[in-house]
Amino acid sequence: MFKANNPALSSWIAVSSDSDFPIQNIPFGVFKTAEKSPRVATIIGDTIIDLAELAKAGYFSDLEVDTAVFNQSSINDFMALGKKAARAVRDRISDLFEKNNTELAGKTQVLANVLHNKKEVELLLPVQVGDYTDFYSSREHATNVGTMFRDPDNALLPNWLHLPVGYHGRASSIVVSGTEIHRPKGQQRPDDSLPPVCGPCRLLDFELEMAFIIGQPTKMGQSISTAEADDYIFGLALFNDWSARDIQKWEYIPLGPFLAKSFASTLSPWIVTLDALEPFRTKGYEQDPEVLPYLQYEGQKNYDIKLEVAIQPEAGEAKVVCNSNFKHLYWTMTQQLAHHTINGCNVKVGDMCASGTISGPTPDSYGSMLEISWRGTKPVDMPDGTQRRFINDGDTVVMKGFGEVNGVRIGFGECTGKVLPAL
Ligand code: CA
Repeated sequence: MFKANNPALSSWIAVSSDSDFPIQNIPFGVFKTAEKSPRVATIIGDTIIDLAELAKAGYFSDLEVDTAVFNQSSINDFMALGKKAARAVRDRISDLFEKNNTELAGKTQVLANVLHNKKEVELLLPVQVGDYTDFYSSREHATNVGTMFRDPDNALLPNWLHLPVGYHGRASSIVVSGTEIHRPKGQQRPDDSLPPVCGPCRLLDFELEMAFIIGQPTKMGQSISTAEADDYIFGLALFNDWSARDIQKWEYIPLGPFLAKSFASTLSPWIVTLDALEPFRTKGYEQDPEVLPYLQYEGQKNYDIKLEVAIQPEAGEAKVVCNSNFKHLYWTMTQQLAHHTINGCNVKVGDMCASGTISGPTPDSYGSMLEISWRGTKPVDMPDGTQRRFINDGDTVVMKGFGEVNGVRIGFGECTGKVLPAL
């Protein structure tokens, strides 16, 4: 148990009971204001804490940490210091803002420099993402897609139960929550009896995913074992891997997704450390057939994190279309990382691995409109009387996620993106 995770702690900063950011969370992100350049921060309740200013005022001086890492436009340099340093910083923040601590009491000028209401700041992409890998690790999702597009009797391809399937994605178009997305254009073949056409995607979809961020590098040739994997995973965020289903269907054979995925992906603004998620560890799936030794693992490597997706139309009420859970992953993050590096592929600080769409066993837990509307055959009724098979222009997709144990809720905030018409 990490000291900062203690459920008995509370902060002198106001935290509402439904907040994702109690003092036990202490995630890391990046913000700027009209006056302040981008810098590293954390959040308690609705209060943003400027770690660069806190360091400047000397509150990290007892730690063996190079505080220049907080004066950066990403958390990459901070992560690169290693987990020991990150734990020391998290513990120090926990101490400073704990309700019985008086170190900042009456320090009006310091507090004015350090604290911001979240409404006053602009949150930025927290990580400079190097390489982005997208897995396909929910058995339910892979089964649903295989059933729709291939053969219900052989929905999973022969490799699926033996390795975590993935592909290399595109990092340049990963954006922070709140960034508007233009509907992609591209080549499609809506009618198999006619030649392909090029135009705006007509089957725009979200994918409910979580992404983990690499905090320590490896050298080429080196592999990360399942036992070591947690040491390399700094933390997690919510991830919407926007997908153009019509473009995907036509282009993906034989090398996998390309332009159907590379136009945009949305990341939530706070990286919640693996340490903070410790209370939510849960057992993984029984894996049958038995996996190869390099994919075997010990302990609880899945996490019980409730996930929700809502569609907010331009006018009118939002509708929750999915309630899933991060624990619905057949392949754990540790297995994903062990597989990713078994060939000696090196990883770098800031690399990101996404889980793949996280669908649960029931239709209300499917993590994409492709599955929810079953390829458009079961439209979703919206509160305003309209229907959705996929995502319309003007819609905002809102993803949320949190775990709750012992009365402590650790959440991720929101991962939102509004769809604008194609340019
Ligand atoms: Ca994906």
